[in-house]
Amino acid sequence: MSVVDGTGGLGTRVHGDVITADDPRFDEARDIDNRAEKSRPAAVVRCLDARDVAESVSFAVAEGLPVAVRAGGHGAAGYGCVEDGLVIDLRAIDHVRVDTDRGVVAIGGGACAGKVDTTTHSFGLATTTPTVSTVGMAGFTLGGGISYLTRKHGLAVDNLVGADVVLADGTLVRAGEGGDEDLLWGLAGGGGNLGVVTELRMRLHPVSVVTGGPMIFPIEHTERLVRLFRDWIPQQPDDIYAFLALLSVPPDEQFPAELRMHPACALIWCNTASADRCNEALATFRAERPVVDGVAQVPYPALQSAFDEGAAAGRYGSLAGALFEDLPDEAAAEYQRFGASQPTPLCQSHLYPLDGAAARPDRGATAWPWRDAAFAQMFAALAPVPGAEPALRAWANGFRDALRPYAMTGCYANFQMDEGPAAARACYGDNADRLARLKGIYDPTNVFRRNQNIAPLR
Ligand SMILES: Cc1cc2nc3c(=O)[nH]c(=O)nc-3n(C[C@H](O)[C@H](O)[C@H](O)COP(=O)(O)OP(=O)(O)OC[C@H]3O[C@@H](n4cnc5c(N)ncnc54)[C@H](O)[C@@H]3O)c2cc1C
Repeated sequence: MSVVDGTGGLGTRVHGDVITADDPRFDEARDIDNRAEKSRPAAVVRCLDARDVAESVSFAVAEGLPVAVRAGGHGAAGYGCVEDGLVIDLRAIDHVRVDTDRGVVAIGGGACAGKVDTTTHSFGLATTTPTVSTVGMAGFTLGGGISYLTRKHGLAVDNLVGADVVLADGTLVRAGEGGDEDLLWGLAGGGGNLGVVTELRMRLHPVSVVTGGPMIFPIEHTERLVRLFRDWIPQQPDDIYAFLALLSVPPDEQFPAELRMHPACALIWCNTASADRCNEALATFRAERPVVDGVAQVPYPALQSAFDEGAAAGRYGSLAGALFEDLPDEAAAEYQRFGASQPTPLCQSHLYPLDGAAARPDRGATAWPWRDAAFAQMFAALAPVPGAEPALRAWANGFRDALRPYAMTGCYANFQMDEGPAAARACYGDNADRLARLKGIYDPTNVFRRNQNIAPLR
């Protein structure tokens, strides 16, 4: 019997289950996507509503328990769990409600992207969601949110119009939409620093069928393709979108046998432009003779979940990130080098454009500060089983370090492991001071510190 499940403990104060180490569900309850960063909490509380969240926060503060907040569990740094602390698990708060009159979708704090996409798709609408459907909308959005729709409709933070939030003192408040606008500003890129979001409200757009899918090229063409993509994408209208990926061709019959499990360079498209305009854009890269051309008209949710299988297989790994204002030719050569030396076939690196609608807001418009960045880069080194972590870390960090001379100072919070306070603060760039002041107001004792943490300024 522990302080958590004993008489008068948390179990008597919430509707949801409180799961401790003696419960057969404990291992499943504390599981997170990146098992290399797993920890052993005192308990996991499966919250069923905002009141459960408020009770859980108040309980943890009173008992001095460290807190982790978990939605989709895909945070690579492992912040969705905490050693000897209380995991506030929001997975059961996963409602998705579409308001067509307002053009807004209300999303439970634990809902995953796939549920959002399939629900909004029934209305011919979509919001900015990540490229894998099992990622939690809250963790994704609060960190920034780079999506297939980012050039056209901005980052997820640009589409966040309101939220319900449990603060460190256990109160439930409304951010935005006539509620606290400062809090909304801080949620839009400040990660989980300011409170627990029990509902997000996000803008919807008329997106239904897109011209999307992969175009795959031999890995030897990488350097040339990086240069071409770098120069070409900024000249395109917002409704043309692709990101560049270094990956291994999946062991799937739809791909030529000689390519399967071999490294390759790919463009992953998601165009919302007219058919003529799409064909014109695709022609530029079809002229580069892809070995696989899988671009077709697809429902947006189908594209958004197309990479789920590969992502689910990589359960042990390391992530790194970088941001670029420009990518000189020397950087393109590093893509060639590291693309050809991926330590496992599950490794991927993605170069996401951040121009178009994502670049238009003022640098201070949201806590996400990277409006001057032309590209965000993600390096994911993954394996299906434990044991290779040092090699994975060496590849992801080695790739990042090779590109560091060309990168901006700071990182996108969602693409960073736990690298200490200075690296965490650098995620907020020029907006770090304002965010620290808000942290001092909403969470002065730093209850919510399992994140890219900003120290409260009081
Ligand atoms: C396979 C994969 C694909 C990805 N694709 C993309 C992509 O396309 N674009 C992109 O930008 N990023 C992408 N990411 C990164 C992803 O956005 C972050 O890892 C994000 O933090 C995951 O959120 P989560 O809710 O799933 O994770 P969790 O581990 O549950 O949460 C991560 C952190 O977010 C905070 N948090 C989560 N929920 C709440 C809440 N309700 N209230 C307050 N704080 C909360 C907490 O600090 C928590 O520790 C991807 C990651 C993976 C593993």
